[in-house]
Amino acid sequence: MDAEEIKKEAKEALYWKSINDKIVQCTLCPNFCVLKPDEYGKCKARQNINGKLYTLVYAKPCSIALDPIEKKPLYHFLPGNEALSIATAGCNLHCKHCQNWEISQAFVWQVPFEKVSPESIVEHAKQAGVKIISYTYTEPTIFYEYMLDIAKIAKKEKIKNVMVTNAYINPEPLKELLKYMDAANIDLKSMKPEFYEQICDARLQPILEAIKIMHKKIWIEITNLIIPTLNDSDEDINSIIQFVKSLNKDVPLHFTAFWPAYKLEHLPPTEESTLLKAREKAIEQGLRYVYAGNIHNIETNTTYCWKCGKPVIRRIGFMVIENALKKGKCSYCNATIAGVWD
Ligand code: SF4
Repeated sequence: MDAEEIKKEAKEALYWKSINDKIVQCTLCPNFCVLKPDEYGKCKARQNINGKLYTLVYAKPCSIALDPIEKKPLYHFLPGNEALSIATAGCNLHCKHCQNWEISQAFVWQVPFEKVSPESIVEHAKQAGVKIISYTYTEPTIFYEYMLDIAKIAKKEKIKNVMVTNAYINPEPLKELLKYMDAANIDLKSMKPEFYEQICDARLQPILEAIKIMHKKIWIEITNLIIPTLNDSDEDINSIIQFVKSLNKDVPLHFTAFWPAYKLEHLPPTEESTLLKAREKAIEQGLRYVYAGNIHNIETNTTYCWKCGKPVIRRIGFMVIENALKKGKCSYCNATIAGVWD
């Protein structure tokens, strides 16, 4: 399909307002794009068509796959389960290090996609026998209407909904979405406004506000990708730890390794020692569940009981190899381990 054919199938968006009879403003994310007739939003997923705002990606996923929930990463949410994972083209951020830039920085007609209704996604999950649907790979906020419709049907069918998000979403649509969402992994890239401005083309403050809203309503885990020279200083790491601690010491924090990609191919990958140091520091500061991901290290991907220190969930890569939790409690000392468990 080309741009004109996609336009004919577009669905009216949920969050926007008229500036005048021709110009619209999208109110879904903090970019607040103001669009003249036929213009596209910064996310490439929304267009002003005849003075109304439309989503171009509704029911047009470019990725559908089964992933372990550990891959999101969500380590304290139904461990050992698979999630039916979906995405459409587009993103409201333009991160220079994006690993999925081929789909996140594309219009829907520039990448292969299928037409799949929300009902069919849920049916697919049921047939695959999975308990979780995950909105991921690109930024799910930009396929908000599709995600919301799937999540509503899934919830009725007792299937959980999780999102992997940059948290660049406005409070009103977020609160509506959270009625149907069960968990989120949030990519908190830095606590420096200039990092978001220069590397991601975004602003930090709305992200912190969205994280606080999510934390009040659903289970969250935070990921911080450590990029050499850009956000790997002691100050960078400390400020991430302090923010997570200000939410709650039970919020899991995942430090993950950068791999050179997209516009940051000239930077080196993150050294394992940097991740280990960051993890140690976070544990010292009192966070209870801190992981170092994207590296082969069983210890840094193990969940330890905060009270007795024994390992309660061991993982190799994304595979759970041992689960010593009993109804969410450590089977050695009976301490409660925060999370959503079977
Ligand atoms: S969702 Fe897209 S169109 Fe809407 S404000 Fe954000 S970037 Fe702009």
